Amino acid sequence: MKLPPLDYVCPATLAEAIAVLSAHGDTAKVIAGGQSLMPMLAFRLASPTLLVDIGRLPGLNRIEISEEGVELGALVTWRDIERDARLAQAHPLLAAAIAHVAHYQIRNRGTVGGSLAHADPAAEMPGIAITCDAVVIIAGPEGTRTVPADQFVLGGLSTILDHDEIVTGVRLPAWPKPRRWAFEEFARRRGDFALAGVAVFYDRDAQGLIRNAHVGVIGVADRPLRLTAVEALLDGQHLTADLVFVAAERARASVDPSDDIHAEAAYRRDLVGVLLERALARAGDLTLAEAA
Ligand SMILES: Cc1cc2nc3c(=O)[nH]c(=O)nc-3n(C[C@H](O)[C@H](O)[C@H](O)COP(=O)(O)OP(=O)(O)OC[C@H]3O[C@@H](n4cnc5c(N)ncnc54)[C@H](O)[C@@H]3O)c2cc1C
Repeated sequence: MKLPPLDYVCPATLAEAIAVLSAHGDTAKVIAGGQSLMPMLAFRLASPTLLVDIGRLPGLNRIEISEEGVELGALVTWRDIERDARLAQAHPLLAAAIAHVAHYQIRNRGTVGGSLAHADPAAEMPGIAITCDAVVIIAGPEGTRTVPADQFVLGGLSTILDHDEIVTGVRLPAWPKPRRWAFEEFARRRGDFALAGVAVFYDRDAQGLIRNAHVGVIGVADRPLRLTAVEALLDGQHLTADLVFVAAERARASVDPSDDIHAEAAYRRDLVGVLLERALARAGDLTLAEAA
């Protein structure tokens, strides 16, 4: 379907963009890469009368790496992340997960801020943000606020953003070099949204015991989830094949996916266990045979 008739503005400053959004209420919508919004317009799943293009706002395509962590501006694209070799060191889990996002053309346009604001339950960026205790940076008429990623996403395609607020970036805490991690997902074709995905990281103490375990999943609920029961199981343990197996069972028991046109609930539930086995095996340098 063709797009509905729309007005379009391309503000030069963040303040101007927020003022336009404030003045137009729910009838205006931000557009960044357009890779989710354009299909929604074509399918009449969104019907704004004004598009506010933030693509030319200065300073939103920054990738900053410091002792505090990694900060990505809202206009950073998947391709920008892939091309920045520093990120593979500074945040390898982020780099690995974003490598799974979408197809080449979409990767050139799709943005970090757009993905967070769109809040697709199977999207990698919100999943990594929630798994890694990231904070989302938001600008609005009252100034700037930061919100933990797990509070930012309210559900499928739903966030705490007000109609006149703009995501300006996301901040991921520093990543210690010795940290163990893995990202595993399964999609029917490369670049499709994942049927499910699992992100794992943990640190190890002087005895080699797991500390600070973080386990996140995408694609199995209306939002990315942290599997806190699995994290509690892992913390304080040595990673062994037996523990991997028990953790996978606990992961299956921790999720409650629905049937949809892409997969049955039982399939997704089992997939989460399989992906967690693979992720833990990879993070801990165990072979899959050991973990089976
Ligand atoms: C075929 C296909 C496959 C895809 N596969 C994947 C995939 O595997 N994984 C994945 O994660 N994504 C996937 N995507 C989505 C893609 O990554 C999108 O680019 C991304 O989700 C949205 O980013 P965008 O910049 O294009 O946002 P837009 O489409 O411009 O906007 C999306 C929504 O966010 C709002 N918005 C955008 N930027 C901001 C901002 N800074 N502040 C406030 N609101 C904002 C818009 O108003 C709109 O509601 C796929 C898309 C397609 C078409």
